[in-house]
Amino acid sequence: MKKTLITSALPYVNNIPHLGNLIQVLSADVYARYCRLRGYETLYVCGTDEYGTATETRALEEGITPQELCDRYYQVHLEVYKWFNIAFDSFGRTSTPKHTEITQSIFLGLDKNGYIKEKTIEQTYCETCDRFLADRYVRGTCPHCEYPEARGDQCENCGKLLDPTDLVEPHCGVCGATPVVRETTHLYIDLPAILPKLDGENLGGGRLGQECRPDDSGLDQGRLARTGHYAGSEVGHPCAETEFREQGFLCMVRCPDRLHFHHRQPHG
Ligand SMILES: [Zn+2]
Ligand SMILES: [Zn+2]
Repeated sequence: MKKTLITSALPYVNNIPHLGNLIQVLSADVYARYCRLRGYETLYVCGTDEYGTATETRALEEGITPQELCDRYYQVHLEVYKWFNIAFDSFGRTSTPKHTEITQSIFLGLDKNGYIKEKTIEQTYCETCDRFLADRYVRGTCPHCEYPEARGDQCENCGKLLDPTDLVEPHCGVCGATPVVRETTHLYIDLPAILPKLDGENLGGGRLGQECRPDDSGLDQGRLARTGHYAGSEVGHPCAETEFREQGFLCMVRCPDRLHFHHRQPHG
């Protein structure tokens, strides 16, 4: 029997679902219903994306722990999708032990085969908060449209993608202090080395290969995709048994819908 696995982008758990979440979940639901009617063995999987600085910062704002925040909003998501009669086969959470196990096994498999590399980069660091800041938690004036509260990854006003260093008068999104730039070592997937294996016959006639092709983020020029770690986040899957075990994984490895390698795709 034909087997069909369907996922939709995992919604962030730090908010009530918005229309954008629903459109994705609903589209996948329609397709899943079609597949079931055709008699295909169908599995529609989704769940809340619970790790990351978005969760951490929201918990800080609400004065509760990240776990409490996730528990609260997971229920909200569940009820909203139930109200819309979305027929998931499984609606889980990225914080389960099973999820950690799968995430680590993907990482360890890549590492064992030599596809994980270390690279030192410069990243914004807040000396007041004593931590590296994720791009989206650096705020400042957009160099393109002069919007004063642009995020370090993207300007919410003009939509242009940014680097935190592009911002005029950057400040920490949590405490407002001026961040400094520090060196930090991250783990990367060596995409140029792995890409030939993703071509053609290896993966179902090349359909996945096409999905995994380098995009305009410059991967085809040899840049590596970042796999670990969260920028100083305390919330994430531990990075297995490596010297990076205190760090979490980026969503690229965590979420089933993000196993393609679009480096700078806005998230959420
Ligand atoms: Zn702008
Ligand atoms: Zn700060």
